[in-house]
Amino acid sequence: MRALATGGFLAGWRGYAALTCLSLAVLGLGSVARGSSNSGLLKVRLGGDQTETRIVLDLDRSVTAKLVSDGADGKIVVSLPRLDTAGDLSGGGQGLVRRWSLERGPTTLKLNIDLSRGAEVRRRFLLPPGDGVTTYRYVIDLKATGRGPIAAPGRRPASPAPVVAARAGRSGPRIVVIDPGHGGKDPGAPGSAAHEKDVTLAAARALKARLERTGRYRVVLTRSSDAYIPLESRVRIARGADADLFISLHADSGPTTAMRGASVYTLSERGESRVTKVLRKDDWLMPVNYPGADRTVGEIILDLTQRSTRNRSAEFAEMLLEHIADETTLLRRSHRDGNLMVLLAPDVPAVLLEMGFINNIDDERQLTDSASRKRLMNAVGDAVDAWFANQARIASR
Ligand SMILES: [Zn+2]
Repeated sequence: MRALATGGFLAGWRGYAALTCLSLAVLGLGSVARGSSNSGLLKVRLGGDQTETRIVLDLDRSVTAKLVSDGADGKIVVSLPRLDTAGDLSGGGQGLVRRWSLERGPTTLKLNIDLSRGAEVRRRFLLPPGDGVTTYRYVIDLKATGRGPIAAPGRRPASPAPVVAARAGRSGPRIVVIDPGHGGKDPGAPGSAAHEKDVTLAAARALKARLERTGRYRVVLTRSSDAYIPLESRVRIARGADADLFISLHADSGPTTAMRGASVYTLSERGESRVTKVLRKDDWLMPVNYPGADRTVGEIILDLTQRSTRNRSAEFAEMLLEHIADETTLLRRSHRDGNLMVLLAPDVPAVLLEMGFINNIDDERQLTDSASRKRLMNAVGDAVDAWFANQARIASR
């Protein structure tokens, strides 16, 4: 039963990888004749507000877009090779976008986005058709940088030539939020001597040290002392920190003392319907409205975000299992559990790692021994390195 569940999971993610490869193969063949009935870009859609704005490009084919300018001089420019459009060439704005326009080059379509205030590209990704959607969608998420409103063109004082940046997404250190489970009045599962809350905090500190040693990450802990932090607050910390990855650390407690081993969880689809509810309640859903939408666009956007986040979470979960396999016994049970509140931030890839069973005598010894805990967290750190390296590869292609 356990093996079956894992097999299904692996098949699911390999299926996704295969789909991506297929998209690339199609792209390689797809040089587009200008004026053909294949228009490429079908539609430009916007959603969001002055804090976060999403631009969705509906496409009849896969595309590799390039970021030519990221917010410099109040403009974001994205180049779309081998693409044309039969749709609108410009449109009004919403949220951080004042207006957008398309510029046709000899072989390339250029999307110019005039910003209404300081913003940068937070992430961009391509979604293949699926789940009833027949188009490819290229998604560009903008995030306010805190710079003030940008004056409308014409009224702007002369400024130096824009700096053309060609970076994929955000630069600077990656932000990893580590969540030591439990704390304070909530001790978590008991061992023969240890408490889960102490083991998770010690592990989180070891992982933080491992990651920060590289100089590539900024690490935020949801708690750095024996304090009680409600689950909702932990998710909020992840969002507030602008996390690229969220790792929650726990220790299991089995019905018998014989069970041992580590397992990794990601959020299931069923869990995500809970996300929607929580988001509504807490106003996390991007407020979106544009004319002509019969289905709530906010829901579509949430759906897109979650699907992409789920893929990336699953990918990290798989890398995590691979890397920690040398350090501990693995309990390869399902990665899906619908009730993991801490994995609820819809746009932050998140996993929950049960490091072992604290009520098993061997696991408890491993979890409370600082040297073996350090080895386990070094392995988690290796998985984090591998995952970000892979993300960078995806972004640059
Ligand atoms: Zn726990």
